[in-house]
Amino acid sequence: MSTNDNIDGQLYIDGKWRNSASGSRSDVVDPSTGRVIGTVAEADRTDVDDAVTAARAAFTGAEWGGRSGRERARILLRIADLVRENADELVRLESLDVGKPVTLCRSVDVSTTIEQYEYCAALAQTIDGATRRTPLPAFAYTRRDPLGVVAAITPFNFPLILSTSKIAPALAAGNVIVHKPAEETPLSALFMATLFERAGVPAGVVNVVTGSGPVVGAALLEHPGVDKIAFTGSTEIGRRAASAAGAALKPVTMELGGNAAQIVFADADVDKAIGAIIKGFVFNTGQFCMGGPRLLVARPLYETVVGILAEAVAGVRVGDPRDPATVVGPMAAQRHVAKVEEYVALARREGGRVVCGGERLDLDGGYYYQPTVIADLADDSRVVQEEIFGPVLTVQAFDTEDEAIALANGTRYGLASGLHTTDLARAHRVADKLQAGIVWVNDWAMLDPAMPFGGVKDSGFGREYGPEALASYTKVKSVVIALD
Ligand code: NAP
Repeated sequence: MSTNDNIDGQLYIDGKWRNSASGSRSDVVDPSTGRVIGTVAEADRTDVDDAVTAARAAFTGAEWGGRSGRERARILLRIADLVRENADELVRLESLDVGKPVTLCRSVDVSTTIEQYEYCAALAQTIDGATRRTPLPAFAYTRRDPLGVVAAITPFNFPLILSTSKIAPALAAGNVIVHKPAEETPLSALFMATLFERAGVPAGVVNVVTGSGPVVGAALLEHPGVDKIAFTGSTEIGRRAASAAGAALKPVTMELGGNAAQIVFADADVDKAIGAIIKGFVFNTGQFCMGGPRLLVARPLYETVVGILAEAVAGVRVGDPRDPATVVGPMAAQRHVAKVEEYVALARREGGRVVCGGERLDLDGGYYYQPTVIADLADDSRVVQEEIFGPVLTVQAFDTEDEAIALANGTRYGLASGLHTTDLARAHRVADKLQAGIVWVNDWAMLDPAMPFGGVKDSGFGREYGPEALASYTKVKSVVIALD
């Protein structure tokens, strides 16, 4: 891939860069201007087949899984070092592709990627089995082996982090991968392939196939040569992926949509909570599965919190993602702005009080929307219940702890949840009752490669990060050796 702004991306299959079999290409757009900045190859089933065949050959040839965990760890550490050395270019590409502010790309996307590779390098050396004492006249033990060919399908909002959260543990465990990034945001995946090559990842072990979900994604889901599906994306497409995996009886990890609540109890430190609340819905321009776009406030604090938010959010700096002072950049695509506009219009029709924002921003032709706070909506409003995936916060009042918990748990999603309180007993009591894969107390979006994350209910199943992620890329075999 060329690394100037005249993007010219190819597929990375079996350690080689090539065009798609059909020769088709798709545009790459800079969301901060709406300008086409280049094209990437648009794969189809033939290319997917080639990638899976290359991955299968690499797996069978044991170029990767046959190495010791320590050897794999060395290469994962080399990848981490190369990401560090090439941080400027990765920041530039991710910002250009997704519209993320460069400050965010550096402090979150790139740094988390380095941490994940380093963490998974450590995990690669811990893969072992256990001896089991049984009454059998036998020596019995378990071993953990890689699954084989992993299809990694990732969404548009955190391309680098979410591909790493699959590729790093899958590689650590000795698997091989075919990665399909979102068609709108393929650049960091292609650049990472150049780093895999330089780090010494053998040909065929990681393959990157760019193209559309209904073609490339669907072909991967249905491919008999794929052994595991690692999917992150919407609940709607996740259901299709889970159905395909179910029909073929393949293991699958489902990281799906979210619509988390942040609860502010009457005993909360409000000044501290405000920062977390704002981070929870403007971070990544609200295109954040683990965002907290539903704010639940104890009634005595309700108007105070709404007033503070209206002022503070109006001061959040929105603008060019290349400006280091920018906090909120454009949305990743025009269609996302249109979706936010529809939800805000619906909120107005339903009597919601827009206390700040509520409009598209006309800046350089980019896909901008003002951070928006909407008070007074009923709990059954679609604006409250559905995943908007934009910089929009709804605020509702509650009277009792039980009511707050019921409201927080009252959507179909269960990815993240959180509360603000100075009462330690309440923190534990409420965390216990919140239906979510991760609960934050007195802050938001504290994530670490050591802490598993994933969802319950319509937010999916399976966990990324932590030893749990590594385990999900292995299969257990019991070996029983007769002793007589
Ligand atoms: P999406 O539309 O579901 O797409 C996700 C991936 O699936 C993309 O690579 C997409 O390809 C592909 N895809 C689309 N149609 C497909 C099909 N028929 N068969 C196979 N693959 C297909 O999601 P998105 O809009 O990119 O991302 C936003 C969603 O992801 C939100 O719901 C968000 O909450 C969720 N998310 C969840 C997590 C988590 O960890 N739980 C993290 C981030 C995002 P194309 O884009 O190329 O069509």
